Amino acid sequence: MFENLSDRLGGVFDRLTKQGALTEDDVTAAMREVRTALLEADVSLPVARSFVKSVTGKATGASVTKSVTPGQQVVKIVHDELIKVLQGEDAPEALRIDNPPAPILMVGLQGSGKTTTTAKLAKRLKDREKKRVLMASLDTNRPAAMEQLAILGTQIGVDTLPIVKGESAVQIAKRAKQQASLGGYDVYMLDTAGRLHIDQVLMDEVQAVRDVANPRETLLVVDGLTGQDAVNVATEFDEKVGVSGVVLTRMDGDGRGGAALSMRAVTGKPIRFVGLGEKMDALEGFDAQRIAGRILGMGDIVSLVEKAQEVLEVEQAERMMKRFQKGLFNMNDLRNQLEQMQKMGGMGSIMQMMPGMAKMAKQAEEAGMDDSAVRRQIALINSMTKKERANPALLQASRKKRIAAGAGLDVSELNRLLKMQRQMGDTMKKLGKMGKGGMLKQAMR
Ligand code: GDP
Repeated sequence: MFENLSDRLGGVFDRLTKQGALTEDDVTAAMREVRTALLEADVSLPVARSFVKSVTGKATGASVTKSVTPGQQVVKIVHDELIKVLQGEDAPEALRIDNPPAPILMVGLQGSGKTTTTAKLAKRLKDREKKRVLMASLDTNRPAAMEQLAILGTQIGVDTLPIVKGESAVQIAKRAKQQASLGGYDVYMLDTAGRLHIDQVLMDEVQAVRDVANPRETLLVVDGLTGQDAVNVATEFDEKVGVSGVVLTRMDGDGRGGAALSMRAVTGKPIRFVGLGEKMDALEGFDAQRIAGRILGMGDIVSLVEKAQEVLEVEQAERMMKRFQKGLFNMNDLRNQLEQMQKMGGMGSIMQMMPGMAKMAKQAEEAGMDDSAVRRQIALINSMTKKERANPALLQASRKKRIAAGAGLDVSELNRLLKMQRQMGDTMKKLGKMGKGGMLKQAMR
């Protein structure tokens, strides 16, 4: 099960003490474990496969920050990918329940938790959105189910449509619609009959009800514990009646969310809510982050890695500041800056935003710093030896020619780069002298 995923990953990576970038072998070994764990959690094979492929691409070559282990780093990458898959392309939208009375059709197999969920959702709409809700049970085969909804309604203070013996599901739906209009309700919820398995009679009935009610939302309730089956049920219901969203129940149980992952990936339907118990307030809006955390069961590691990354960035910036204050600014520093700029998208715009940097921005502009120029300049710096990078004053004319040729560029371009490095160094020095850190520190923030 998913519970073991963290242990499995830990096992693979604990043996590796080496820091640095994740190698392909590291990642492949870890992904074998991820794949097995996903399959054991009843995630469908194609979904597990494409998930692993996508994570592999992201993890290979990813750098590992100093204060976390490679295993922890992979967990973070897996976690982020889980969120992406669970979330889907579009952000979760709110239920479309404007234009009262808005019909919500509740569908699903018997025992999935449909009636319970209908009541939970009605309570939520009443409490949180101050909606007046009317619930109606359409389960003409099971009087007990109709009774159950009425009892839940009384319990949560939501009206239910009075039960009239002998009516068909369609007749009840019509009456609910009428009653909702007359009674000034914002929303009416139709709790359709369930069967143990999908059959034609059930689908015909749900279709007929759908055509009468013309629901704004058709929510499919599925048991999250049934994993793969839940996904098959969803696919069938969607084909036959059209589903606008899914509610996964029993997510408080041992199934760690495998169904959630496949559901989104296979059906493309958004998971709207998750049921987390039998109580009437045990219904949560779907939160990909929370489910991913539950699947992995390792929120601590994720925040640890996030924090470590932040610390590392701050440490790097502080180290650089110290150098600048001492008037040290060699080609390594310049390359560092250039790379940062590249990452942040364009040089001039960033410098213009920083106090005291306008002059440098101008210098940069003069030096022709568009994005392709930045790439060329980094190439030039990379062609230098370690010594030359640390102390560019060492560069003689012959070496300059070689370096420029090595990068496929003209010597004049290298000379411009050298000039820029000197000028930037001077500017840094001046800024550094304006009180320890004062202006530069501000500028770096
Ligand atoms: P229906 O036949 O689909 O209408 O299912 P019910 O609403 O009658 O629910 C069947 C059983 O599942 C009931 O005992 C519910 O209390 C229980 N149930 C429903 N949702 C959840 C849930 O999210 N978690 C847990 N643990 N039990 C649930």
